[in-house]
Amino acid sequence: MSESEGNMRICVYPGSFDPFTVGHHDVLEHALAMFDCVYVSVLNNGMKHPVFSVDERVEMIQHMVDVEHMQKVVVGRFDGLLVDYVRSVGASYIIRGLRATMDFEYEFQINALNRHLAPDIDTVYFMARPEHSFLSSSGIREIGTMGGSIKGLVPESLEDIIVERLKKQPSDC
Ligand code: ADP
Repeated sequence: MSESEGNMRICVYPGSFDPFTVGHHDVLEHALAMFDCVYVSVLNNGMKHPVFSVDERVEMIQHMVDVEHMQKVVVGRFDGLLVDYVRSVGASYIIRGLRATMDFEYEFQINALNRHLAPDIDTVYFMARPEHSFLSSSGIREIGTMGGSIKGLVPESLEDIIVERLKKQPSDC
């Protein structure tokens, strides 16, 4: 590690991202304004029945990062304990987004567990923009599989890929 890397502020933005939405994108932009390097990391085995495979999700997010020439983003995946992964990449912060009280209850619990396991790792929360407070990956999956428009709800660079992929999905998700 070089001297400058030693002082870098590194964070991990973990999630299912099934698929990545403009809500996720907004959180990522806020994280990029505060950190020198953001790992956007897809949780492997986090969901029992994901629509997009982990490979597809990693590829899609990487495509968006390339198209938008996002500097300072590393796209990856992880298994197991988040705090172990955070340490393994040299990060000291976790990023999460908060939409409503429902997110808060869940995040409050996870935060307590993570702080128990790793008191040296802090979590930074960004509030969803009001216009994104209704937005979820499951909503996108539902609209997309039923042929509705997801324009403006997912990053533009991913819209066609997600639309095509969801068309092939049975509409019972
Ligand atoms: P997870 O299964 O880990 O909750 P998600 O992909 O659903 O994965 O969400 C990843 C993170 O992004 C979570 O912190 C979630 O609260 C946040 N998030 C999801 N949707 C939005 C949104 N519309 N606006 C802001 N944050 C969001």
